[in-house]
Amino acid sequence: MLKDQDRIFTNLYGMYDQSLAGAMKRGHWDNTAGLLANGREWIVDQIKASGLRGRGGAGFPTGLKWSFMPKETDGRPSFLVINADESEPATCKDREIMRHDPHTLVEGALVAGYAMGARAAYIYQRGEYTREKEALQRAIDEAYDAGFLGPNACGSGYQFDVFLHHGAGAYICGEETALLESLEGKKGMPRMKPPFPAGAGLYGCPTTVNNVESIAVTPTILRRGPEWFASFGRPNNVGVKLFGFSGHINTPCVVEETLGLSMREMIEKHGGGVRGGWKNLKAVIPGGASCPILPASMCEDAIMDFDGMREKQTVFGTGCMIVMDQNTDVIKAVARLSKFFHHESCGQCTPCREGTGWMSRLMDRLVTGDAEIEEIDMLQSVTKQVEGHTICALGDASAWPIQGLIRNFREEIEDRIKARKTGRMGAFAAE
Ligand code: NAD
Ligand code: SF4
Repeated sequence: MLKDQDRIFTNLYGMYDQSLAGAMKRGHWDNTAGLLANGREWIVDQIKASGLRGRGGAGFPTGLKWSFMPKETDGRPSFLVINADESEPATCKDREIMRHDPHTLVEGALVAGYAMGARAAYIYQRGEYTREKEALQRAIDEAYDAGFLGPNACGSGYQFDVFLHHGAGAYICGEETALLESLEGKKGMPRMKPPFPAGAGLYGCPTTVNNVESIAVTPTILRRGPEWFASFGRPNNVGVKLFGFSGHINTPCVVEETLGLSMREMIEKHGGGVRGGWKNLKAVIPGGASCPILPASMCEDAIMDFDGMREKQTVFGTGCMIVMDQNTDVIKAVARLSKFFHHESCGQCTPCREGTGWMSRLMDRLVTGDAEIEEIDMLQSVTKQVEGHTICALGDASAWPIQGLIRNFREEIEDRIKARKTGRMGAFAAE
């Protein structure tokens, strides 16, 4: 378990002193110019050595991503774009950083922006995050007033600006290229990749898009050293991270913890245990709506990191778990997610536009059992036709929860269809 002295976001634990003075007391903005003086390559190398993987959900190596930014840009400016759109159902970890510890993000923006030669950082923040908008803007203003940002950031001679942009509530604007379109004032529709943003990003300029947490941890990693960060977890899955706990647990919360603990340890230590005890657990969605659902039998020893979740045929994602007890209708829960993805599809590619609607309608019939057993395989086949055949990851995200449900709860789906046919619907008849 993580010791208090190893936490990066100490302000989340009851102090809530967001001011610059408070942040400086906690060690942030301490000789930031000295960090910058080590040079761009040093910073990128340190982040690579730390093993930090993107905290937005995909887990792409952060230092490697920064190294894709071109050194020569033919006079074009380069940009850092921070994805603060956090819209994944059950995920609210970045919200905590922006609400309670915003200076970690602002300082991180400068350090990371400098490392990739960026002229400015744009923070694209979820539209519903109004308190966080105020807290973050206050921190940005304080940093300008203190000379930490602007024409001579921290006295380093480097010019760096930070702009906060508020979104308008579309889930798809959290997809990095849709986010760039939206920032440019256009409809938030994902672009084809490649080219990746480092080649052609914001306004066609070299751009790196990173998650809030990935950027906010950067200065601490540089100060404490990459070995310190890499000492937590296990190879390929290192570091500390924010985890979320929601659903049928006793104490819903967001906490900082090391990667590599078991799901059960995490839920019992931080979530206060499953409502009614571990035996009452039915399923867990490990890291956001797109992650395949795991039955209780697979949760006991499941390791909460990228490889641990892959071993269980699911995805680590944002590390924000939805815990479901025996009272949960898991078919209905996944049907609700299907509706969500259908609603949020931008509609520009056919497999997603048509497939999400098709899957959602059939999922609704599975909830009431008003389907044929053969339709389960048909649904599975449709998920395979959507997965991997769309412009952005929303297509995959809509397919995976259904695949997980069929793989792990097929018997329950079949029982419901049979019950419907024999008129033994019980509680579901009223749905
Ligand atoms: P992705 O794997 O396509 O890309 C991840 C990052 O790596 C991107 O920045 C991408 O540009 C970069 N990248 C990948 N391959 C590259 C290459 N060959 N060259 C250069 N750069 C490369 O995933 P994604 O579509 O960006 O994100 C999907 C994830 O987002 C899902 O796993 C989900 O968990 C997560 N998600 C999070 C939220 C949230 O609120 N935090 C919301 C929705 C989805
Ligand atoms: Fe739009 Fe869906 Fe295609 Fe993504 S997969 S671009 S959300 S239609």
